This record gives sequence, C-alpha cells and structure tokens, in this order.
Amino acid sequence: MRAAGLALLVACAVCATAQAWATFRMAGTQDPRVAVRFVEATSGDSAGMVEVWAENRLGGPVEVSLAPESGSGIAGDPPLPMRTLLRGFERKRVARLNAQPDRRLRLHVVPGTPDAQPRDVEYAYPLQTSQLRIEQGWGGAYSHRDAQNRHAVDFAAEIGTPVIAARAGTVMEVEADFAQAGLDAEIYAGRANFVRIVHDDGTMALYAHLDANGVLVRVGQRVRKGQAIGLSGNTGFTAGPHLHFTVQANRGMRLESIPFRMFGPQGILRFTEPK
Ligand SMILES: [Zn+2]
Repeated sequence: MRAAGLALLVACAVCATAQAWATFRMAGTQDPRVAVRFVEATSGDSAGMVEVWAENRLGGPVEVSLAPESGSGIAGDPPLPMRTLLRGFERKRVARLNAQPDRRLRLHVVPGTPDAQPRDVEYAYPLQTSQLRIEQGWGGAYSHRDAQNRHAVDFAAEIGTPVIAARAGTVMEVEADFAQAGLDAEIYAGRANFVRIVHDDGTMALYAHLDANGVLVRVGQRVRKGQAIGLSGNTGFTAGPHLHFTVQANRGMRLESIPFRMFGPQGILRFTEPK
C-alpha cells in the first residue's frame, strides 16, 4: 500500500507540472518571424507566474501585439492585450502573466518601428538595366489599391536582371524558397520571393517577385546603395516578370506604403499621388 501511495503522489506531481505548462498556448500557426516561448517562473519576483519570451528572427525592428484569442484580458505585467517593439534579433521577456488554465494567445507581427520618420531622399533605380517600363504605378487598379501597396511600382524586367539596393540599409527579412507563380491571390498573394531592407530612418524598402535562387543577401547584412541584392523573377502573385518596389513604414501595427522620389535611367521618375 505504501508503494502504491508513493506512486500516486509521483503521478500527481507530474500531472500538476503538466497542467501548469499548459496554461498558455499560441493559437493558429506560428509566425516564423517571431518565436514565442512560455516559462513557468519558480523563483524570484515572478514566482508562480508564466513568463512570455519573444525572439525576433528578423534583422530589423518588429512591433508585436499579444492578446488572448477570446474572452477577457489577462492580468500580468503588463496585462494582455499588450504591444511592444523588438529590435533586430532581440530576444526578451515581453510579459509575465498570472497563470490561467487553457488560454490561447494570438501574436500579431508588423515589421518596422512605429516611430519611423521618413527622410526626403532620392532613391536609385532598383534594376541594373537602362530599360524602363512601368507595368503598374501608384494606386494601380490591379494590385496597388491597399494601404501596403498604394505607392508601389511594378517595373517590367526580364528574369535574371540584377536588382540593386535603391538606398543603403540593413537586410531585415528575405523569402528565398518560393519558386511558383500564379494569379490565384489566395495561394500566391504575399508569398513571392522578396528582400526587405530597413533604412536608417526606420522606413523599409520591399523588392518582390525575385527569381528562384534570386536572393543574393542574407538577413542582418548591411548593404550600400547600388549593391546587387537579387535577381528579378516572376514568383508569387504575378502575371509576368517584373520587380515590385515599394517603401513602407509601420504606422502602429499596420504597414503603409509611402511616397518616394526616384532617379530612373533617363532622369527623375514622376509618379502621381493616387486619388
Ligand atoms: Zn506590384
């Protein structure tokens, strides 16, 4: 009997630990850009609480919000919902929460810092060619209507044309594993190969639809204006080979494209503000 009692005690201790670990879970599929981990604090001033640690895998700042998937907020330091900024590659404790059984949390990630102050600079033409054909400009009806793409430009470019940095910065994010293309937005929207470069003023340039094996830089790398960063292609949501270029800023958990000036192969390019 003694032995059985001991076994029961051990089993219960294991079960209690497992319950504590299961207090919080992430809802849905994990965002590959920011890893979240829960740590049950057993000592120190967080004892009995669950620490939430977040690790930014991008080479530039991201703003994250963490909120319960449903139901009421969660008490803690800070309480949920909450928002915070993570620097490039930063790993930090973002909250410590009062344990609650079986709560699911949702993480929302937006690249960039909300205090970006766009400087008025002249961007270089992002393709190493003297040819210039604009397939779609600012506010284009086909796919430049939403806030993220309103000031985007599609430059026609043969597959394999070198893509160059229009402005100096740090490579914060790359997608290099996507080889397909198509016109089904549900499958292909947002899934092209791309390079995202963060500038010193906090704005970011996006170079998209790069060729399979067409990303020539790595996350965290510093690039100078005019440096080759990729090869243009036709990956993702696209009807033909082109480079999608836009400058974006995080405007408080929301990406917005912003107007830019550019010097093209034959002089200043003039884009008109969409109505
Ligand atoms: Zn475009």
